[in-house]
Amino acid sequence: MDFKINTKGKNLFLILSTITLLLMMVVTTLLWWFVSPRLHEISIVLAGLSLTALRAFFFILALGTILVLLISYTETNLLVARFAIRAYIKIIYPVTLLLGRLLGISKEKIRESFVSVNNSFINAIKKQFNPSELLILLPHCLQHIDCDIRITTDITKCEKCGKCDIAKLCEISEKYKIKMAIATGGTLARKIIIENRPKFIIAVACDRDLVEGLREVFPIPVYGVLNLRPEGPCVNTRVITEKIESALGSLIKA
Ligand code: SF4
Repeated sequence: MDFKINTKGKNLFLILSTITLLLMMVVTTLLWWFVSPRLHEISIVLAGLSLTALRAFFFILALGTILVLLISYTETNLLVARFAIRAYIKIIYPVTLLLGRLLGISKEKIRESFVSVNNSFINAIKKQFNPSELLILLPHCLQHIDCDIRITTDITKCEKCGKCDIAKLCEISEKYKIKMAIATGGTLARKIIIENRPKFIIAVACDRDLVEGLREVFPIPVYGVLNLRPEGPCVNTRVITEKIESALGSLIKA
C-alpha cells in the first residue's frame, strides 16, 4: 500500500525537537549535579534513587528521540508509534515551539513543519478506513467572500459556481461519499466531530488552527492540509484539492 500524504518541510521541526530533547538532558543533568551533594548528605539511598530516576529519564528521552526520527523518516508502522506520537504531540511540541522562538524562528514556520511531522506519523500508521469513517473539515474562509449561500449549515447547498475551492471539494466529497463540514471556529469543529464520530479527519486550516485542532482531537488521526492565503489570512483562502484527493486514494479501503 503506497501512502500519498505530503510530508514536505518536516526537517525543521525534527531538528528543533531533537535539540530540545538534548537540552532537556543537559538541564536535568546540571540540576542533578547541583542537588546531588545535598542528597548525599541527607541519605545515600535517596542519592542513589535520584541517579536511577535521572538515568531512566535519559533512557526514555533518547528512546523517544530515536523512535520519532525513525517513524518520521522511514514512515514505518512501529508498534510503539502511537505512544511516541502522543508524547510528541502533547509534550514535545510546546517545548520545541519555545526553543524555536528563542532562536528567532517564526511560530508559523515551526507550526507548518510540525504539521508535516504529524502527516509523516499518519503515513507511518498506514491505516485504511471506510468512507463513512472519514470526515473532511474545512474552514469558513475557503468560501468566497461574495458568496451569500449559507454553506456553514449544509455544504451541499454550494452551487459549484467555481469561484472558490468549495466547488471542487464538494465534487470530491460526492465522488468518495465522504462527509464534509465547515467549522467557523473551534467550538463548532468540536461539535461536528462529536456528532460524526470520525475515525480519521482530513482537516484544512491555517497553521495555528491546524496545530491546535490536531493536538485537541488526539488520538483521532488527522491529516493536516495547510490552506493558501493569497489575499491574506481568513479571506478567500485556497487549498490544493489534489492533496486531499491523492490522500483519499490511499486512505480508503479498496
Ligand atoms: S463554489 Fe460554492 S461556495 Fe464557492 S462561491 Fe461558488 S457557490 Fe459559493
